[in-house]
Amino acid sequence: MRHLILVLGDQLSMNSPALSDFDPAQDAVLMIEADSEATEVWSHKARIVMFLSAMRHFAEALRARGWPVDYLSIADQPSGSFAFRLEQALQKHRPKALKLLEAGEFRMQQLIADVCEANQIACHWVDDTHFLCSRTEFAAWANSKRELRMEFFYREMRKRHQVLTQGREPVGGQWNFDAENRSGYPKKTGPGEIPLPAAFTPDALTKAVIAEVEQRFPDHPGTAAHFFWPVTREQALTSLDHFIRDRLPNFGKYQDAMWTNTPAGWHSLLSAAMNLHLLDPREVIAAAEQAYHAGSAPLEAVEGFIRQVLGWREFIRGVYWLDMPGMRTANHYNHQRDLPKWFWTGETQMACVRDSLQQTLAYGYAHHIQRLMVTGNFALLAELSPQQVEDWYLAIYVDAIEWVELPNTAGMALHACGPRFTSKPYVASGAYINRQSNYCSGCRYDPAQRSGERACPFTTLYWNFIERHAPALSSNPRTALMAKNLSRLSDQERAAIRRQAAVMLSNLNEL
Ligand SMILES: Cc1cc2nc3c(=O)[nH]c(=O)nc-3n(C[C@H](O)[C@H](O)[C@H](O)COP(=O)(O)OP(=O)(O)OC[C@H]3O[C@@H](n4cnc5c(N)ncnc54)[C@H](O)[C@@H]3O)c2cc1C
Ligand code: SF4
Repeated sequence: MRHLILVLGDQLSMNSPALSDFDPAQDAVLMIEADSEATEVWSHKARIVMFLSAMRHFAEALRARGWPVDYLSIADQPSGSFAFRLEQALQKHRPKALKLLEAGEFRMQQLIADVCEANQIACHWVDDTHFLCSRTEFAAWANSKRELRMEFFYREMRKRHQVLTQGREPVGGQWNFDAENRSGYPKKTGPGEIPLPAAFTPDALTKAVIAEVEQRFPDHPGTAAHFFWPVTREQALTSLDHFIRDRLPNFGKYQDAMWTNTPAGWHSLLSAAMNLHLLDPREVIAAAEQAYHAGSAPLEAVEGFIRQVLGWREFIRGVYWLDMPGMRTANHYNHQRDLPKWFWTGETQMACVRDSLQQTLAYGYAHHIQRLMVTGNFALLAELSPQQVEDWYLAIYVDAIEWVELPNTAGMALHACGPRFTSKPYVASGAYINRQSNYCSGCRYDPAQRSGERACPFTTLYWNFIERHAPALSSNPRTALMAKNLSRLSDQERAAIRRQAAVMLSNLNEL
């Protein structure tokens, strides 16, 4: 055998450069399921179904081309870890080389390299051209910058790839329409009718995976009972079409809005399909840009969406590879508290957190503001251990893969990497959540109360955080005002907040 081509669960593209010179006469594809991938990294049932179903559909598509595929499913014997199974496959096939795309996770990359070395088989890594910015290009851009900022990277990417540009200038005269993209839903009428995202009734293969997951992983969090995610290339393209047609026009305006029982809002729900490579980010960006030129979506919405895909997604991936493995242990504030138990059940009295967690457990999805400003904000204000919080985020979303989960959690939500790639900690009190949602109207807490029986944990812990970090916050122009506002509180009020915060922090499981 010339090449044994290992296709990982997040590399499901027929256009993968690892498959470009595939010759069925002398090559074979290897795909490996392993229990260890769902247990070492604890995983929501819907997330396991997402990966296994998409992998099995992809293997069918390869076989339909007449390509040999050695597919090891979790039910096959002998069972074992991913490393064990890879080793067995290398011994069985004895290829001249194992060939594969760069892995999406540092851990997986190390593991595969180690197994190849131990078995004295050459390992050919192929650049992952799914991304518009290669790891090398990102490293060259980052060069010796101590602090990295997405906005500058994003503008470079717009220019380099000629997206929403006229020559070197941005279409519409502005690079950034964030200021127009922060509305909440109207308080009186709520979000109104939002077209639902494409949902796919599980086919026989997915149904079998769901049954297998229920049987093998009964104690894992969440449910696969509502599984509706795209698991094939065709379904992913349908999801993209629906989003561009139905929801992109309002994506920008309501990007930061939250409302009870409105899990998707106007968001795209395309992250899982993109992360598994069922969709290419270039086609996603092109479809959004085309909608602008066709006049079917306004510039603020299209720019806001493209910023996420061409800006944030590529930036986050670049930072991950630049800063691993140190990012996994980063803990700027040295926070050490345990994750409250209700993160896994949704049983908390905080209405905003409860709604975000319950939809997460039901679908494996929450949108960005729920992840950043509800669960993430709480985790930072409650001084939770970054490593425990990171494990939770990696487990709980269908789109979770470490290259994207970790920088978002450690860097964006928890400020665990300090100012390395975010200019300030993203902390907010209950007032922010109240402004952006209807959650507070149905809550046992009151966002305006800093202390007392109905004090909102976000509000109390926010002021506690500001007081603890006042010197650092004062010296940063982006947070100086937060620290200045502290001086409006009397000594008595500040003492009451400290007392209230101490009670809350020592009883996190009861909130
Ligand atoms: C604490 C935390 C953890 C996160 N973990 C993950 C994760 O495991 N996997 C994941 O794909 N995203 C993660 N994100 C980023 C973002 O929240 C999700 O990509 C987004 O919510 C997915 O929903 P959507 O497809 O509807 O996105 P939309 O809001 O419709 O955005 C469009 C696309 O832009 C990309 N995108 C948007 N924001 C980001 C971002 N900050 N980083 C990278 N890509 C982005 C995604 O591909 C997304 O599909 C995390 C964010 C936070 C704050
Ligand atoms: S009052 Fe506080 S805890 Fe309750 S929903 Fe509002 S922000 Fe969340």
